[in-house]
Amino acid sequence: MPKSTTAAPVIQLTKLTKRYGFGDTSHNALDEVTLKIQQGEFIAVMGPSGCGKTTLLNIIGLLDRANEGDYELDGKSVESLSSKQHAYIRSNQIGIVFQSFNLIHRLNVLENVALPLTYKGMPRTKRLERASEILKTFHLQEREYYMPWQLSGGQMQRVAIARALVNHPSIILADEPTGNLDSRSSHVIMEELSQLHKQGNTIIMVTHNPSLTSYASRVINMLDGKIASDTHIRIDTGDIDTVTKIPLNRHSPKTKNAKTTKAAKPARKTKKKATT
Ligand code: ADP
Ligand code: MG
Repeated sequence: MPKSTTAAPVIQLTKLTKRYGFGDTSHNALDEVTLKIQQGEFIAVMGPSGCGKTTLLNIIGLLDRANEGDYELDGKSVESLSSKQHAYIRSNQIGIVFQSFNLIHRLNVLENVALPLTYKGMPRTKRLERASEILKTFHLQEREYYMPWQLSGGQMQRVAIARALVNHPSIILADEPTGNLDSRSSHVIMEELSQLHKQGNTIIMVTHNPSLTSYASRVINMLDGKIASDTHIRIDTGDIDTVTKIPLNRHSPKTKNAKTTKAAKPARKTKKKATT
């Protein structure tokens, strides 16, 4: 799908706030987050543990909702949609991948991947055919009848990605998808995500690993529920001179964050060297 930066954003968050707790003990996991995401962006979200990355992803994935602010998906406020419409979006437009894979251990690989199709009322044979097709694209067809515990971590995550994609969602959310994997398997997963990005899908990925941000077209650093920096990377030239930094009000991690994102960029050029 052709990408256009002038098109309306696929995701637009305006002053999104998520609060946990009550009264004196309440605190904002997200604090007035404003963010526009275009179709076809590959965004890496970074930041220290507890800064709100998972909360942000859960709200974008309609697994949770904000207390204040607005979330527009394809130009429509999600608050205005019925729970049936939310369920439809969750199963058709958005695919989610978790750090812990979340495969169902009593189902084999094929059945795991076919699972999201069950909720659509598709007949079993068709479901398994569709699952088999997508596993082929991940070169996992010879593992179809394996149980999840017979797979390596990297293979489990690839099955989980295949499951997230079986309904052909255009937005893929990944919460530390390589957090439990070694460096080699991490790069295999990143190559898969990169392929999906090249096909025009929108990817939002949380990661702790600065070297993986080299796959992204944009790097967002979060701190204390806010966006501390937002860096656009020009993939064609490998330049980062299009850096846009959004200053943080309360803290001043600007230099620190700028360093992190700048350090991340050369990893693309030296990727081979770095991983051997
Ligand atoms: P991250 O993914 O960046 O590590 P989270 O989004 O999981 O951070 O959490 C952000 C903040 O919100 C943390 O302070 C966390 O303790 C708090 N939080 C997350 N989920 C809950 C919850 N269900 N109840 C209370 N506090 C929560
Ligand atoms: Mg998290």
